[in-house]
Amino acid sequence: MFNNEQYIEGLLEQAVEATNAQIIKVLQKAKTKKGLTPEEIATLLYIKDPMQLQELYDIAGQIKQSIYGNRIVVFAPLYVSNYCVNNCTYCGYKRDNKIARRKLTREEIQQEVQILEKMGHKRLALECGEDPVNCDLDYILSCIDAVYSTKSDNGAIRRLNVNVAATTVENYRKLKGADIGTYILFQETYHRKTYHDMHPNCLKGDYEYHLTAFDRAMEGGLDDVGAGVLFGLYDAKYEVLAMMLHNAHLEEKFGVGFHTISVPRLKKAEGMDLSTYPHLLEDEEFKKIVAILRLAVPYTGIILSTRESAEMREQLIRYGVSQVSAGSCTGVGGYKENESCQDVGQFEVADQRTPIQILKSLMSDGHLPSYCTACYRQGRTGDRFMQLAKSGKIQHVCQPNAIMTLMEFLLDYGDEALYQQGSALIAQEVEKIERQDIKALVIENLQKIRNGERDLYL
Ligand code: SAM
Repeated sequence: MFNNEQYIEGLLEQAVEATNAQIIKVLQKAKTKKGLTPEEIATLLYIKDPMQLQELYDIAGQIKQSIYGNRIVVFAPLYVSNYCVNNCTYCGYKRDNKIARRKLTREEIQQEVQILEKMGHKRLALECGEDPVNCDLDYILSCIDAVYSTKSDNGAIRRLNVNVAATTVENYRKLKGADIGTYILFQETYHRKTYHDMHPNCLKGDYEYHLTAFDRAMEGGLDDVGAGVLFGLYDAKYEVLAMMLHNAHLEEKFGVGFHTISVPRLKKAEGMDLSTYPHLLEDEEFKKIVAILRLAVPYTGIILSTRESAEMREQLIRYGVSQVSAGSCTGVGGYKENESCQDVGQFEVADQRTPIQILKSLMSDGHLPSYCTACYRQGRTGDRFMQLAKSGKIQHVCQPNAIMTLMEFLLDYGDEALYQQGSALIAQEVEKIERQDIKALVIENLQKIRNGERDLYL
């Protein structure tokens, strides 16, 4: 059934008729955190009643709290090359755009990484356009090496997720060998005709090859894969269902689905006009979709970028988002050129706050910012991660790791106000740890961190 258009459209047609009783039944099932079937997801996509909508948000919030606690993982993107042979209609880097093309040298990457490390980042997402000549896999592997080997005072990137174009099993194997975290690739749109219209006459235009990239990635040993659609290209309800079927396909074939889902919405970019896209996703519908994803795949991380405003990010974090980017630049070499990043890169950024400002606001809203990167370094990837997450035992490592990485941030990168705010939060969070052995270990480790030790994790 995976990506069968008629099947998806049939599900949506049936769901229009869903009764209140059916919607309530699905919402009740969602509370069990067992995920939802495609039929159930389709039913929720048609919720209109304000009371039911509120119920959906409440359940999404409860699931979020029970699986992720109040943790929010923080990361930043790193653009290394804007060479691109593709002509994606919506993208500022498309080949028809006569913009200056460049790729970073090893030294330039190290400078960018040092700036990111000074902001406190430990987790990056490497981004680039697709260009088999100017940005081939050897170049990408050299970028990965440059990132991991850049060390500054207290700083080091501990997890590098990679967003590169669909490629071969052999290349995925090489990425696995380079110790990447999650392999990220957005389908952009699951709708075949729209996909072709949006990617005219270019390498990326091969729908099947793009769609089957995660199968090849898994065959190449990359068991943490991060999906996404670019909301605004086609009907969002269709995209959500197709993405969930894609997830089910991977679960069935490889025993594990998406590690993360990103929810980018189309933004203004160089050489495109937003008004020519008839499927732009309105705020209310967007919130509903994020909440439905939280119910549908409770254990999959949901990532929100700085494409969204601070206000939207605050709301979506309550309904299910578990990772946010901070202090982002979407231009190649953008961190060095403009540390406050006012320039326009691949697309416009709406949340231009610094990581310190974002951390203050997260903590004021009761969240615990986390720079934890322990799982993949401890071999907790793919189905091992999912089993641990589903058993609830992941809390015993994630919460302590979040607390310890926040303490590092406060000491190494925070200002006085952040230190005060963060210390109070850490004290509260330590009190909440139920297992006494873990609590004692965290207290001991926090003292070690105050004494100068770094990178302690469970
Ligand atoms: N080269 C990779 C590939 O071909 O799949 C993609 C990397 S690109 C740097 C990251 C993502 O940015 C794209 O997958 C796309 O979803 C998103 N993007 C491109 N243009 C955008 C726009 N105008 N607004 C929002 N997101 C956009």
